[in-house]
Amino acid sequence: MLQEIRDIITRGEKFLITAHIDPDGDAIGSAFSLYWVLESLHKQPCIYLRDSLPYMYEFLPRPQRVAHGEIPEDQYDAVFALDCGNLFRVGKGYEKLKEMGPVINVDHHMTNEAFGTINVIDPDASSVAEILYRLYKTMKVAMTFNVAINVYTAIFTDTGSFRYSNTNSQAFLICEEMTRSGVAPSYVAQMVHESHPKERFLLLGLVLATLETHKNDTIAMAMVTQEMFRRTNTSKEHTEGFVESVKEIRGIDVAVLLREITGNQYKISMRSKGNSDVASICNLFGGGGHRNAAGCTINGTIVEVKDRLKEAFKIE
Ligand code: 5GP
Ligand code: MN
Repeated sequence: MLQEIRDIITRGEKFLITAHIDPDGDAIGSAFSLYWVLESLHKQPCIYLRDSLPYMYEFLPRPQRVAHGEIPEDQYDAVFALDCGNLFRVGKGYEKLKEMGPVINVDHHMTNEAFGTINVIDPDASSVAEILYRLYKTMKVAMTFNVAINVYTAIFTDTGSFRYSNTNSQAFLICEEMTRSGVAPSYVAQMVHESHPKERFLLLGLVLATLETHKNDTIAMAMVTQEMFRRTNTSKEHTEGFVESVKEIRGIDVAVLLREITGNQYKISMRSKGNSDVASICNLFGGGGHRNAAGCTINGTIVEVKDRLKEAFKIE
């Protein structure tokens, strides 16, 4: 499969690279690394991410051609869909992608729907960047600094800074190699984890005040509302890491963050430790993800949404 992709790249010229809405470090780092690889081969890559980059990823070497909002419609020699369990995750207009060129689906979600013309799905991979790294090795391209720091950051963030169960030996081996291309782990950690504006902590204070625990303190839930964003002059990008903070409580198996999109729609993020499978819970609501990190969107008022979640978790 990787050889087939290598051949498509060799023969082609124009490529679209896309990933999921609300892009995280893996979506961004994977897309950017592929861009720099294609550019080093004198190809014409273009990136489409529906949403702009959260501020903590702005330090990454930024490609010239990155589009947000509307998919840049054109004919491409291939359309790479990265880190998307289904094509819907790209956002509005995703149906059109299949008409723009063969879709190459590269993902590590167990629930991936194999929607591509070519599908490279490895649920054992720590991140999409790890799968792309194998492609880069197949292609024998040089690990330039621009490629390396994006690959490193993707793996670093998708493994929760080498803490989650997807932290495998490949993750360490690849990241070690990236340090030899000039990536300083302390710099990446500082950019990702220690570059927050003060307002984020004012927001965190409000969110932590909503914390409730259930089932003998094994399930934690917290909430962020549009009113909290207004009061602290923040937005959804400032909530990165909140659900992980709640998971730090001793004895908690599952942490849930409810983020108000509108008064009638909530984005749910779940994280778990050990064997608790939050992907299957999110699946009940049409979402998905990994066993220990998943998400979904639920329609309804806050009371209705909480009731539906409590029912899913069998909370009295
Ligand atoms: P997050 O809570 O950070 O948004 O997402 C955690 C994980 O769940 C990521 O792997 C993400 O791709 C996946 N995820 C989040 N929301 C959804 C969703 O609505 N549908 C699907 N299929 N996966 C999601
Ligand atoms: Mn990922």
